Amino acid sequence: MTISERVKNINPSQTLAITAQALKMKREGKKVISFAAGEPDFGTPENIREKAISAIREGFSHYTASSGIIELKEAILEKLKKDNEIEYKTSEIIVSTGAKQCLFNTILTICNPGDEVLLPTPCWVSYTEQIKFAGAVPIFINTYQKEGFKLFAAQVKEKINSRTKLLILNSPNNPTGAVYEQEELKKIALLLLKYNIYCICDEIYEKLVYDDAKHLSIASLGDEMKGKIITINGVSKSYAMTGWRIGYAAGPEEIIKGMSKIQGHSTSNPNSIAQKASVEALNGKQDAIEEMRKAFDERRKYMVERLNEIEEISCLIPAGAFYAFPNVSKILERGIEYNGKKINNSFDLSNFILKEAEVALIPGSAFEAEGYLRLSYATSLEDIKEGLDRIEKILKY
Ligand code: PMP
Ligand code: GLU
Repeated sequence: MTISERVKNINPSQTLAITAQALKMKREGKKVISFAAGEPDFGTPENIREKAISAIREGFSHYTASSGIIELKEAILEKLKKDNEIEYKTSEIIVSTGAKQCLFNTILTICNPGDEVLLPTPCWVSYTEQIKFAGAVPIFINTYQKEGFKLFAAQVKEKINSRTKLLILNSPNNPTGAVYEQEELKKIALLLLKYNIYCICDEIYEKLVYDDAKHLSIASLGDEMKGKIITINGVSKSYAMTGWRIGYAAGPEEIIKGMSKIQGHSTSNPNSIAQKASVEALNGKQDAIEEMRKAFDERRKYMVERLNEIEEISCLIPAGAFYAFPNVSKILERGIEYNGKKINNSFDLSNFILKEAEVALIPGSAFEAEGYLRLSYATSLEDIKEGLDRIEKILKY
């Protein structure tokens, strides 16, 4: 069988692969605790579910406009105006099958083969592969634990050249939980204008910020700026709707039109029932978000404290999202003996923890950051306690 070079070139999603492996082990009767998948353990709020049931009963079961129903686009407009202080028209919005599809469509619409895409690391798994799929080149900008994984405008400037087409910003960040400083974001925004670079702002974790962290949408910094930015968001994380698969993008009309063309020939409209449910998510009562955020906040503090109690591990307290990203490089330097080999990378370490402690987590290497592990705390406190007991035991010097 001949597989295309394009597909040979990309790696499978490790977040999804490890989550699937944990589920398989559970089906085999193992008591696996999963810190792998980045998804809330809460159910979708009742009012949202009810709207979906009504939509089914009313027979809302036909194709919709490929780029999404007007009612949902209007709810998105209102949301962006109210929460993010950005004004858009419906022609500047597209609804897709998850924020993941919005990202994919955006990158394919903007990038030609050989174009460079600036990508701050550690970064979420799918950006790198989507960039490669488009034939573009990821240019990594490393951020560091000692600087709170913050991104600085000077670092961005250093990587800009005539091939630079796009920058991907993800704040609050998956996997580090960093929320970028507003002053730096403003400086980065000026670079976009000066060097004519587009920017994807992946704001999917915007509602999940803790302590005094504040999220800023840089598309709100004026009309000229808005012309360079594609703001991406969705209902997966804020409304515990990962399986419903609704994400959206807002940006310059020409880019949104390009994305709609791709969507029109690939998946067509996102699920009709899920679109109706998402209208309720955005327009209906919002208290479920704060309830989840408070629960995540408690788990965040507990998980990070426990991780830092383990000798050889250091973990920053994340300001947003729902991941802890501990530095395990000292453990890798020591090298745990396992199956006749010394474990010296995060992939083998996460595999060892999965096999021997039955705790699933993601290696830092999946996020272009060797020497770290990612643990999602969007799971029950009880599981977090048990999972960390097991990890502590197995990593003891
Ligand atoms: N961006 C980031 C940073 C993510 O972690 C995820 C994870 N699901 C997505 C986008 C995609 O979200 P979805 O497709 O579920 O809307
Ligand atoms: N975004 C989540 C994560 O990082 C869900 C899985 C995925 O889509 O990658 O784990």
